[in-house]
Amino acid sequence: MDAPGSAYADLFHLVQGRDYFVLTTNVDHCFQKAGFDKAQLFYTQGDYGLFQCSKPCCQKTWDNEAAVRDMVLSQGFSIGERNELLLPEGAGAAMAVPMELLPKCPNCGRPLTMNLRSDDKFVEDDGWQRAAVEYETWLTAHQEKRVVFLEIGVGFNTPGIIKYNFLQQVYQNPEATYACLNLTEGPVPQAIRERSIVISGDSAQAIRELIA
Ligand SMILES: [Zn+2]
Repeated sequence: MDAPGSAYADLFHLVQGRDYFVLTTNVDHCFQKAGFDKAQLFYTQGDYGLFQCSKPCCQKTWDNEAAVRDMVLSQGFSIGERNELLLPEGAGAAMAVPMELLPKCPNCGRPLTMNLRSDDKFVEDDGWQRAAVEYETWLTAHQEKRVVFLEIGVGFNTPGIIKYNFLQQVYQNPEATYACLNLTEGPVPQAIRERSIVISGDSAQAIRELIA
């Protein structure tokens, strides 16, 4: 399903014509659905749009949209114009997927699972490795340039991936600005406070106002 609201679309609008790169811990595929180019996107924690082997037997992933659609339709659901799930009329959905539709690893035949970092079985495939390199390359190319590190809705679950990374980048580059959108105001280190913008409140609304 598409994400509710217009935050991703507004964000995509905001970066048009700008030299940008997206670093995300979101795994819901919404950046790509909103139009962001996969080449400018590092999905560090995985992507629900990809399957991987459950063992895993290999460091590979497979696009899963067609397989997921088949499983959804097999349960009696239909899919609306906005990709929303529509419940079947009458008896309701079967809530079960026929065995033959369960996705199997093309390599070893074991069940496939979502490409999501939840334990040490997470597959970092060629696309993931390439994205990691692209992100590092982008950072290196911009380390002395005017950059806004726009942090949106990052909590303290995995702060090391985005928040501490951004704070460090801004600290090292005097031309950089740290902008933080979050429901609650987070602490900003003294060393970069005068180059920081913190907006506490609804991030989606803040983004909407940025493009207004
Ligand atoms: Zn396998």
